[in-house]
Amino acid sequence: MPYELPPLPYAYNALEPSIDELTMHLHHDRHFAGYVNNLNAAVEKHPDLFKMSIPDLLRNINTIPEDIRTAVRNQGGGAANHTLYFDIMGPNAGGEPTGQLADAINKTFGSFDQFKSQLSSTGAGVFGSGWAWLVVNSSGGLAIQSTPNQDSPLMQGVTPIVGLDVWEHSYYLKYYNVRADYIKAWWNVVNWNNVTRRYQAALKGEYLM
Ligand code: MN
Repeated sequence: MPYELPPLPYAYNALEPSIDELTMHLHHDRHFAGYVNNLNAAVEKHPDLFKMSIPDLLRNINTIPEDIRTAVRNQGGGAANHTLYFDIMGPNAGGEPTGQLADAINKTFGSFDQFKSQLSSTGAGVFGSGWAWLVVNSSGGLAIQSTPNQDSPLMQGVTPIVGLDVWEHSYYLKYYNVRADYIKAWWNVVNWNNVTRRYQAALKGEYLM
């Protein structure tokens, strides 16, 4: 069975004015769809691999047949990364997490504001295309990291729960070259309920698709 593009779980204009409707259409319907389609085209060459979930393809990237390994890394990474990205945004969002996740953030980074500042500067510091992440390691600890291109932290054995896409396609139509303004606005649309759901899953080693 080929992998499927998850529909956008809210209206395309739901993140206005932080993220504009046209960017959402292009980002979900063209970029995200392209990663899923290109992943399917690669895995068609070894169709037994369709039995594996996309996260498992990425966790086991070094065992993927060499002729499709780069495609799985880039297109499978793009599929997994954008599943998370669109899921952890939403209307009537922003603010801060509560409960166990809030406690873990405070313990790791000192405060929510320090976490926010570190993730923002990590995103701003990515040269070219890539991502800034909040990840959960195998001991349940939190860390901030970046990856280039569509590399997924799943390839490194950690589970991302917050993903900030800093590819120009995420922001260029509205924010032009001012990535920092996009990052500032992006915090207004983070859906902490869904991040918390991903945190609970990540503590059990699961990445929700
Ligand atoms: Mn993207």
